[in-house]
Amino acid sequence: MPLTPPGTLSPSKISSFSDCALAFRLSAIDGLPEPPSAPATKGTLVHLALQHLFGRPGPERTVEAAEANLDRAFAELRTHPEYTGLDLDAEAEAAFLADAARLVRRYFDIEDPRGVNPIGLELKLEARVGEIRVRGIIDRLELDEAGGLVVTDYKTGRSPSSTHQQGRLGGVTFYALLCKELFGVLPARIQLQYLADGLTITTEPTEQSIRGLKNKIGALWQAVERACEREDFRPRPGPLCNWCGFHAYCPAQGGSLDLVPTPVEITAPGPAVAAAT
Ligand code: SF4
Repeated sequence: MPLTPPGTLSPSKISSFSDCALAFRLSAIDGLPEPPSAPATKGTLVHLALQHLFGRPGPERTVEAAEANLDRAFAELRTHPEYTGLDLDAEAEAAFLADAARLVRRYFDIEDPRGVNPIGLELKLEARVGEIRVRGIIDRLELDEAGGLVVTDYKTGRSPSSTHQQGRLGGVTFYALLCKELFGVLPARIQLQYLADGLTITTEPTEQSIRGLKNKIGALWQAVERACEREDFRPRPGPLCNWCGFHAYCPAQGGSLDLVPTPVEITAPGPAVAAAT
């Protein structure tokens, strides 16, 4: 029986389908939850702390305030399944929090937040590209000195090598597309802030890059629809298998698709920040 394509596409779904079609199917179509991982939950925590920091007036955005905001974010997250599912003991929790605090402090090596003019935090945006609904979450939208839009995406993983930087920036063109469709203007700049390395990678989106992304989304959607019609989502074993939570269902890992429970209701994301890496 043909499968039903997902209702929307997001940057994470696009990269998931490109990385491994089976993992995409299990997550986006079958709605199977992936077990929480410490790096992803740490990303959620740090994003939430920075969201609180930018909720303060500019002059109050100090390192001390950010540390207090991290405490507040942890108080909000510690009873959430995304954190409790990690099942950390006291020692592991202390290491987890120390690492999150290091990332928050390192952020101040990248920029002085007192001079940032945010106009939106953790913005959930949705637009249409032809018949396809696309959505994404912008960590921070701000105005530069000339009044241009700047999109900032925080990254808590390691920064890519120079040869892979363009690929990462291709992903954030998605946010430029959302701004163009919803606000009618292209951002002047999109920046990825790699907190662990104190590094920023920046790009200036163009109409041409938006056109290219629209074409890519259209082609990818056709591939998803085709795969749904044929019920043909093949596993693609690779390094990502080390972090994949679907081994029980993956034939490439000795699992079986017969174990996939149906139907599974796709639940809305929790209160914390989604897709933080
Ligand atoms: S284990 Fe690897 S091949 Fe299997 S679904 Fe996950 S990412 Fe794909």
